[in-house]
Amino acid sequence: MSARLLLRAARLYDPALGLDRVADLLAEDGHVAAIGRGLPAGGAEVVEGGGLWALPGFIDLHVHLREPGETHKEDMTTGALAAARGGFTAVVAMANTRPPVDSPAAVADALARARQARALGGARVWPTAALTRGLMGETPTDAAALRAAGAVALSDDGRPVRSAAVLFAALKGARQAGLCVLDHAEDPDLCADGVAHDGPVGRSLGLPPRPAAAEAAQAARDVALAAAAGARLHLQHVSTAAAVEVVREARRRGLPVTAEATPHHLLLTEEAVAAFGAAARVNPPLREEGDRQAVWQGLVDGVIDAVATDHAPHAPEEKAAPFASAPPGISGLDSAVALLFAEVRAGRLPLAAFVDRFAYGPARVLGRPPERIAEGAPLALTLLDPEAPWEVDPDRFASRGRSTPFRGRRLTGRPAGILLPKEEGACP
Ligand SMILES: [Zn+2]
Repeated sequence: MSARLLLRAARLYDPALGLDRVADLLAEDGHVAAIGRGLPAGGAEVVEGGGLWALPGFIDLHVHLREPGETHKEDMTTGALAAARGGFTAVVAMANTRPPVDSPAAVADALARARQARALGGARVWPTAALTRGLMGETPTDAAALRAAGAVALSDDGRPVRSAAVLFAALKGARQAGLCVLDHAEDPDLCADGVAHDGPVGRSLGLPPRPAAAEAAQAARDVALAAAAGARLHLQHVSTAAAVEVVREARRRGLPVTAEATPHHLLLTEEAVAAFGAAARVNPPLREEGDRQAVWQGLVDGVIDAVATDHAPHAPEEKAAPFASAPPGISGLDSAVALLFAEVRAGRLPLAAFVDRFAYGPARVLGRPPERIAEGAPLALTLLDPEAPWEVDPDRFASRGRSTPFRGRRLTGRPAGILLPKEEGACP
């Protein structure tokens, strides 16, 4: 992208600003310079926007990019390119790489890799840092130093903190540093070595159970600790009706508690385990229809602030293992926006709510201003082609991860790229 860019005749839609019109958008030096009809190109690179919608840049709060340590699954560049292809202008990378991101030096290293990925056309990658040293759940990390190094949040995602005392101390540190804690709330003792929801399908397949109560119990504990610590808590990949109620109650009390849901928990149940095997193995597991409906209702109501993919790529040979020994995780970046937009088309999610849960909500969780389509605002747009037919075909994903229980779904509407300044550091 050159320093000047003209998006011509797209539908510009930014519901928080009351913007909804077909117009040109001229960007200069990384900012929106003008919005109007018939703007002169004047040497700018031109993107023909006819038929496309331009939306405030989407942010994915939850991705695993596997670099350093497991680049056979994904690396920062393939992940950032999959994000861009999937319509995300920024993704929040979890800290459970090998080694984990638990020091200022590791954050700096992640930011350097992110800048390289960005220079190759990928989305911005914003790193989180571990909440406890080595993700071991024993010693809180230095939240202030991690924030100073560029971490956007703290998370031990994948390794729920077992000790309430350790979590309480870590939450206090996060509050003092002004960082949100992104919380994978599943009680590790209740989960034990469970791999599937404790429901009819999991039982019929004889899979070790991972009970729904493990999520709600841990979520309630963590909300209580966050409230006492005065910290901002964000519950990741909420999957049960009971956990949605925990969030709803916390919000009713005015606590700074937010939550996300994944496309798979919003759209699938444990039936997918019977149909797709290990491609449907995730933590927390796919639940029953009543849970799915409750999570969906939370998304529509706004109790769930964000759709996040929990993009967790693995190598094909790893996911080819039997269900109980295959690693948990779905490759989600390529398909998430198209999957949820299909729900907008079907009338189950208002368009303004769709934009909120993908753009404004994630920004709120991170405590940063949302992307805006307005003169003077930094350029960060998600483009959508609302009429394009598309099939979820993991063989054509930009991600190295090819495992998805949405394989073969036929959808109408898909992301059509992102617009970001050419030269931009990865640090927000
Ligand atoms: Zn998780």
